[in-house]
Amino acid sequence: MADAVRYDVIVLGAGPAGSAAAKRAADRGLSVALIDRAVFPRHKLCGALISPRANKAVKEVHGIEMPDDMYLPSRAVEFKWNGEVLRDITAPYDLTYSNRLDFDHWLRNSALAAGAENWEGTRVSRFLDTVNALELSDGRRLEYGVLIGADGAASPLAKHLFGQAFDNDKIAFAFEAEADQPCDGVSDASMSIDFRIVRWGYGWNFPKRKTRTIGLGGIKSVDQDLKALMAQYLELEGVDPGSVTVKGAHLPGGDYKKKPGRGNILLVGDAAGFVDAITGEGIALAIESGAMAGDAAAEALAADRPALAETHYFGAVKPIQAELDRVRRIRGIVYAEAFEKHFKDRLRHSDWVGTAFFDVLSGERTYAEVEKRFAKKAFTKALQGVASWPSKMRRKRAG
Ligand SMILES: Cc1cc2nc3c(=O)[nH]c(=O)nc-3n(C[C@H](O)[C@H](O)[C@H](O)COP(=O)(O)OP(=O)(O)OC[C@H]3O[C@@H](n4cnc5c(N)ncnc54)[C@H](O)[C@@H]3O)c2cc1C
Repeated sequence: MADAVRYDVIVLGAGPAGSAAAKRAADRGLSVALIDRAVFPRHKLCGALISPRANKAVKEVHGIEMPDDMYLPSRAVEFKWNGEVLRDITAPYDLTYSNRLDFDHWLRNSALAAGAENWEGTRVSRFLDTVNALELSDGRRLEYGVLIGADGAASPLAKHLFGQAFDNDKIAFAFEAEADQPCDGVSDASMSIDFRIVRWGYGWNFPKRKTRTIGLGGIKSVDQDLKALMAQYLELEGVDPGSVTVKGAHLPGGDYKKKPGRGNILLVGDAAGFVDAITGEGIALAIESGAMAGDAAAEALAADRPALAETHYFGAVKPIQAELDRVRRIRGIVYAEAFEKHFKDRLRHSDWVGTAFFDVLSGERTYAEVEKRFAKKAFTKALQGVASWPSKMRRKRAG
């Protein structure tokens, strides 16, 4: 067997989380291998609404801003309820709609330019934690000081560590299609979110330069036929379901990992379950957690104690985890059947709900403030009584 190649840090997965981890570790002077099974540019199912918080994270970690031709800016937003437009709002800032083929390639190139080595088109066949090594499918071995798993919602590394990548009762599933409705040149092409097309989830119709990205997602264990709902939703949005290719993917639905990793192995982004279960936003959290893991690796290796990486990282991601707890509690109210009428009414009339939505997307307002406001208003009792997971799942557990 050929000699093993050794890196300070190996990052598995070159999506937004992996590229951020690799960039940060390389910037801190570490040798880094950035592995992905795909060859870039590669597709990734995603609405690719790059929120202001995500744009800010890109700037902080990579020091770059999306070039104009990589996104479509727009401020027009519609809140919908089973196809009915409840409200038209103008966002207080540009929302930017990109595509993951270009966006991820661009971020990965930034990590490579910082010195991370490119191991694309590479599969890992075995994790050899006891000797801090990976075996690749061609038999080669790579050794690491710290291993960072940025390998997505179905993370093979999380599965290796914990026996499963996610809890099937708590994971969300989404369908998406690209409709042939180019929005380039359309003045302020509107996005819409349909809050009632599915239970414990929502639908989205995002304008893109060359298409419209239409999708819906919800907690998988809720008793509903997401695929059939997707066909209905496409029709409501004026698209013949037979004219598009519908694809599906898992995405974390609020069940993040309390301890995302073990010793010198860290999980970031979707692999750690870091997705906002109300807005569906995962890109900002992927970049933020990736950079935190890069920093944690650098601290632990500088102290010559790689196993301390988890201590640094678990501490750093606590604010993300606390926010995701709040998101889950608030979601329990927003999606509770008992509050359906009230929620619809708020979407239609409440200026505060409209403003909070954009403030959260921009990172200007935290869910702590949102929760405080909910608690202050009519929901004090509800906050105590409503669980953060759907009722069917709760019944199953109790029974
Ligand atoms: C339908 C849908 C719509 C979404 N819309 C939005 C949105 O509009 N805005 C938003 O902010 N978020 C959205 N999200 C969430 C967002 O896509 C994720 O949170 C984000 O991609 C997480 O980034 P990541 O780097 O952790 O993982 P990923 O982007 O999934 O990257 C993981 C990488 O790991 C690689 N990989 C996987 N397994 C292996 C392996 N065994 N070996 C090597 N490499 C491997 C993959 O090839 C991939 O490149 C959406 C998700 C879905 C499913």
